[in-house]
Amino acid sequence: MPEKRPDAFANALEQLRIASERLKLDEGIHRMLREPKKVIRVTFPVRMDSGKIRIFKGYRVQYNDARGPFKGGIRYHPEVSLDEVKALAAWMTWKCSVADIPFGGSKGGVVCDPKRMSQGELERLTRRFTAALGDAIGPDVDIPAPDVYTNAQTMAWILDTYSQMKGKMVPAVVTGKPIALGGSLGRDAATGRGAAICTREAARVNRMPLKGASFAVQGYGNVGSNYAVILEAMTGARMVAASDSRGGIYSKRGLDPRKVLAHKEKTGSVVGFPGGEEVSNEELLETECDVLCPAAFENQITANVAKKVRAKVVIEAANGPTTPEADKILDGAKVFLVPDILANSGGVMVSYLEWVQDLQRLRWTEDEVNGMLEEKMTGAFTQVHKEAASGGVSMRTAALVVGVGRVADAVKTLGIWP
Ligand code: GLU
Repeated sequence: MPEKRPDAFANALEQLRIASERLKLDEGIHRMLREPKKVIRVTFPVRMDSGKIRIFKGYRVQYNDARGPFKGGIRYHPEVSLDEVKALAAWMTWKCSVADIPFGGSKGGVVCDPKRMSQGELERLTRRFTAALGDAIGPDVDIPAPDVYTNAQTMAWILDTYSQMKGKMVPAVVTGKPIALGGSLGRDAATGRGAAICTREAARVNRMPLKGASFAVQGYGNVGSNYAVILEAMTGARMVAASDSRGGIYSKRGLDPRKVLAHKEKTGSVVGFPGGEEVSNEELLETECDVLCPAAFENQITANVAKKVRAKVVIEAANGPTTPEADKILDGAKVFLVPDILANSGGVMVSYLEWVQDLQRLRWTEDEVNGMLEEKMTGAFTQVHKEAASGGVSMRTAALVVGVGRVADAVKTLGIWP
């Protein structure tokens, strides 16, 4: 029987419940944090290349802004749902808080299939979605960024549409932009780099040598591929498996992360990489390896999968890849899991650095940006690890306690108006 996959938002609420219990949060504050502050749901038409009009649905969930303007990516995917966007917006809130950057959390999504759309169609969809959001976004209000199947070009279209409507250029309205439009050096690779730093730190606290250690990556997109390239260069670890939406590849001897990326760029998939044995996405999660990095979607490591995970360390580069039931199994098996709201926070950390550069008309070098990311990431990791060690809890619970705790403090201190 196929396993029941709980809704992503139900998972997020269960995680919140665990953190609230440990923090002994006031029931009223807990109830406030269970709901997004604002949900925006829009429907808009786009003229397709065929001349036909299609109607699209888009969402922006603004979860909490007690610590600063809303912040979070926009994803384009056929399975985007309000439930998913709510979960992702809640996770953004705890993530910005763990990272200790002055942002709240939000997320957006459009139900569409970008792989079957032309650049022109994607541009018209993006511009119309931006117009539909209107003043709900803005540099002091809510700042979008790339997420699944959106990229720097998508951000450029949002920036241009918003700026045309305002009659002036407003680069700080989005992050993850092209460098030529005020994007930050180092932003593109930042999520992967942050996850690689977390892997190095996880190995350090577990006294696990990484030179020659094996790792597997589920989802060889922007995050997964940067993770693999940077982790190999940083530590000498060896990639033994990689996958994408079409399937995966495995080689005990090791796969060259750059060559796999070049193959994917040429053919559209990692599948067919010379020297790689074919594996399914599920088999990849069960690969014998030291480090497993889910870098694709939610709900991948379910209870059934968790029983078969053989890695010693799991680095959640994706948002919400592990269900709460699977968490318990991995924890019981002493797998050291670095949770999403810490492991993938490098992206939004450098988004913050991009936003600061835009607002202050500054330009930092890639080394300066990477240096600040390194400092922020190791700082956040150490704080969460300390919380885990002193409380005798998992890194997931510790990260939630730190993240939710700071948001709850901000909410409480602001007070209820009137
Ligand atoms: N979409 C990314 C995430 O889930 C980045 C968000 C941002 O930079 O605002 O963390």
